Amino acid sequence: GTIELRRVREHVWEIPQEGEMNAPARVLASEALLEQIGQDKTLEQLRNATHLPGITKHAICMPDGHQGYGFPVGGVGATDAQDGCISPGAVGYDINCGVRMMTTNLTYEDLQGKEAELVDALFEAIPSGLGGGGVVKGDAETIDDILAHGMEWALDAGYATDDDLAHCEDEGFRDDAHPEYVSQKAKDRGRNQIGSLGSGNHFLEVQRVTDVYRDDVAESFGLEADQIVVLIHCGSRGLGHQTCTDYLRRIEKEHADLLDDLPDKELAAAPAGSELAEEYYGAMCAAINFAWVNRQLIMHRTREVFADVFDRDWRDMEMRLLYDVAHNIAKKEVHTVDGEDRELYVHRKGATRAFPAGRPELPPAYAGVGQPVIIPGSMGAGSYVLRGGDSSLDLTFGSTAHGAGRLMSRTKAKQEFWGETVQEELREQQKIFVKAQSGATVAEEAPGVYKDVDEVVRVSDELGIGDKVVRTFPVCNIKG
Ligand code: 5GP
Ligand code: MN
Ligand code: MN
Repeated sequence: GTIELRRVREHVWEIPQEGEMNAPARVLASEALLEQIGQDKTLEQLRNATHLPGITKHAICMPDGHQGYGFPVGGVGATDAQDGCISPGAVGYDINCGVRMMTTNLTYEDLQGKEAELVDALFEAIPSGLGGGGVVKGDAETIDDILAHGMEWALDAGYATDDDLAHCEDEGFRDDAHPEYVSQKAKDRGRNQIGSLGSGNHFLEVQRVTDVYRDDVAESFGLEADQIVVLIHCGSRGLGHQTCTDYLRRIEKEHADLLDDLPDKELAAAPAGSELAEEYYGAMCAAINFAWVNRQLIMHRTREVFADVFDRDWRDMEMRLLYDVAHNIAKKEVHTVDGEDRELYVHRKGATRAFPAGRPELPPAYAGVGQPVIIPGSMGAGSYVLRGGDSSLDLTFGSTAHGAGRLMSRTKAKQEFWGETVQEELREQQKIFVKAQSGATVAEEAPGVYKDVDEVVRVSDELGIGDKVVRTFPVCNIKG
């Protein structure tokens, strides 16, 4: 049935707690975004999420929210780590799908005239699509090493610098990783995909900075107008997907009693403290490490391509990692709830951590300004860098949106758009050079399938959960 929302204040809407709900739910959106959110199953899924055991304070939907598997994309749910639960569907199939941004000292002027050459070279060098292989091929030992050590493996193998690790969420390494809880099947799927974009929504985009909103923060981030930056969006490929599948099936079997209490089987959760909860957490952390290595290897290749195309050393072009941040993840974090410090599993699915200055997790470079938050828009619209806002801890367990958010299904998109036409228009009208494995991908990801990223970011900024720092615009884009 229809879901009644109560307006709490500007951009804050509540589904009051009733019946079997363990907490109220909140939607953070403008009226325009709320109307779009109300068009699919997002609100129902959000209300269902409040039935999860140990859900704390509110289940929350970010301004870019849309329906997902069981739990909305753009959803945040914090559950008690002692007597709550952990839910693979509230993390997502693509474990540690996320984004990283690399800065350069090149300007848009340096790049103009070279776009076609650059996009071709990137497309050639960076594995994408289905079955495109990876930057490296891993034997069984390499995979286990990557799963256990994340970007420290990349550092030892010569694919990363100390500076790269210092500018990644958790330094690119989750200590709680347990490769032995990742199935052989998942590892086999990952072996040929180490350093690969994958298909569909994943991309690599060369962008230019078009607007600067907070000069001082932009300066600490090393960002300025007209600068060329590179945005990489991908996750843990088949390895993460298989891990999610494996644990969903096991949880459905071994915790059927809990499942019966939940309004949707897709919310399947393992009780905190159970063996299966520990195993899923260990396996998920291993998949997180895999995804960080994946994005690192793609960035490494990108540096090589730039070196080739511009005939300069990449260090000379100051190609530095600004930040890498996950948007499909669950993490044990301590948050203050009603004046009490509690350990929670914070599930962020299609939601980005947005910690403000002062949180102990932040790397030294950002300890005083807040964490960079990277929000992609679409291949024909702006993207944003924000910084974690002061209200995020209070409102969202330190989180904000992760993108513009999908508005139209892939099937509908293919009826509405024709890939080649979209590509031509982007090139002719906006000077954006797109190269993809197939026209269908371009149609499925056409700018028109996404919501208005400017509106999503406005809400984030006005709520103070993620503050606008700069806006970027695409120059070259490759897609699987
Ligand atoms: P998701 O992780 O949910 O697949 O997508 C994250 C966000 O990336 C989407 O909500 C969308 O706003 C954005 N996005 C999708 N394709 C592109 C692209 O080609 N370029 C940019 N800049 N953003 C994109
Ligand atoms: Mn993904
Ligand atoms: Mn993603």
